[in-house]
Amino acid sequence: MPGDAMKAAHEPNTFRPVILAVDDEPEDLGRVERELRKRYEADYRVVCEGYAEAGLQKLRDLKVAEANVAIVIAAQRMSRMNGVEFLARVRETYPLAKRLLLINPMDRETAELLPGAMTLGYIDFFEFKLGPPPNERFHRVVTDFLEEWTEPYRSEIHALVRVVGERWSRRVHEASALLERYSVPYSFYPVDSEEGRALLEEVGKSSERLPVVVMPGGRALVDPANREVADVFVSANAPSSGQTFDVVVIGGGPAGLAAGVYGASEGLSILIVEREAIGGQAGSSSLIRNYLGFARGISGQKLTYQAFQQASLFLKGQEVYVVGGANSAGQAAMHLSKYASNVTLLVRSGSLEASMSDYLIKEIEATDNVRVRLNTQVVGGGGEGRLERLVLKDSASEHTETVPAAALFVLIGAVPRTEWLPEEVVVDGRGFVLTGGDLLSDGRLPERWDLQRPPMLLETSVPGVFAVGDVRHGSVKRVASAVGEGSIAIQMVHGHLGET
Ligand SMILES: Cc1cc2nc3c(=O)[nH]c(=O)nc-3n(C[C@H](O)[C@H](O)[C@H](O)COP(=O)(O)OP(=O)(O)OC[C@H]3O[C@@H](n4cnc5c(N)ncnc54)[C@H](O)[C@@H]3O)c2cc1C
Repeated sequence: MPGDAMKAAHEPNTFRPVILAVDDEPEDLGRVERELRKRYEADYRVVCEGYAEAGLQKLRDLKVAEANVAIVIAAQRMSRMNGVEFLARVRETYPLAKRLLLINPMDRETAELLPGAMTLGYIDFFEFKLGPPPNERFHRVVTDFLEEWTEPYRSEIHALVRVVGERWSRRVHEASALLERYSVPYSFYPVDSEEGRALLEEVGKSSERLPVVVMPGGRALVDPANREVADVFVSANAPSSGQTFDVVVIGGGPAGLAAGVYGASEGLSILIVEREAIGGQAGSSSLIRNYLGFARGISGQKLTYQAFQQASLFLKGQEVYVVGGANSAGQAAMHLSKYASNVTLLVRSGSLEASMSDYLIKEIEATDNVRVRLNTQVVGGGGEGRLERLVLKDSASEHTETVPAAALFVLIGAVPRTEWLPEEVVVDGRGFVLTGGDLLSDGRLPERWDLQRPPMLLETSVPGVFAVGDVRHGSVKRVASAVGEGSIAIQMVHGHLGET
């Protein structure tokens, strides 16, 4: 259990997680063992087994002994069970352990299996079998894995900020989310716990108004606004009054950051205005896939740590629900399946094919503790002080049923948050900003448009105002397209500046 692991994490001497390696070629296993012991033995226990069944038994024994397992490494070519099959089974005992497959360089047959094995979550990555030292590529993968695996523990051990509050309170959730997005290590102490009470006493605060957020140095903020918390950690360069910029970017998500980076690299002066924390939605995803150049995907921060914390709050056997039929819901379900015993994805439509990527559908199908309920809507719910039950309606039969529920994650699409825009910037019925050709009706220019030329591809109904990324009507809701649009908008900015 992560909760137990966290306790162990506070005692560095006993916190020596295991790195397990399995190969039935003694010479190859010896090489892996030597490399692992040389670099990691001070902080990790290196355990090696000569065949797959022994590896699985060792994992079961470690589980009984409540040991932590950080990485499992296996050779693909083994006589009785291949490496992919073995690593897929590691999920049964240690779903959070990172899994590395070692392959022979000329093994074309295995090379063909790899994309599927990664897509379905059987392995996290692969690397060639080790040769004589130096084996720096192997170590880079191992250290990357260790960095990812220890992330939640590091946050617990090196907490800069301590939060005391009600376990299920909305303000605790908001403050935690903000700290995560700023990558500030923090720990949470329920107000009814011994540690929570002791901390309140230490900083001289009562439990009447919560949460209490204890900053580095001991300053305690009582139910602070997000801004108060952010101000402690962010030293944004506020523009001086009267300062002018070539480009002002509203929003520091992938699209806005790309526009900022490309604009600055081309000599434009840029101001980026962000209301929460840089990174946008990408900072709230468990894993961004499909981004060129990152074969293993890029992990977001928020959901990872949040789910880790929540996992210690779930009680075994409780049901966790995710609402939504698109990629974000699928990813959330997959991610939560590592922590919760059962995850149910509630989908309003009759199939996932139209809304979710094929790789995710396959991954969900291959995961035992994720269930999909199609044609299902959430029509009610309740509980004492926290969610305890949901009312679900089957839209085909109209039948409703009440089910016990420990948590509900709602991933049903984003709202563009464009209410603040002046009416001159034309938006569609849902608030997404119209650009380029979408502004022309029957080939005619927009009503208040006073230039001879039509709006450029990403230009809005106001010359010189551009919309990029998810906020743009008709955009592809992907990191790569947001980054692409942010960067090409700069070319259009140059065009506009040339006109003025
Ligand atoms: C759970 C999840 C999983 C995802 N998985 C993937 C994936 O695997 N692959 C993929 O390609 N894409 C994925 N996406 C989609 C991807 O994250 C988005 O397409 C991308 O982040 C869009 O970038 P953006 O900059 O256009 O908008 P956003 O990321 O939404 O950023 C907009 C920023 O603007 C700020 N802002 C809004 N209004 C204001 C204002 N008035 N003033 C100042 N700031 C403001 C917001 O705080 C935010 O930081 C996922 C999204 C989610 C939520």
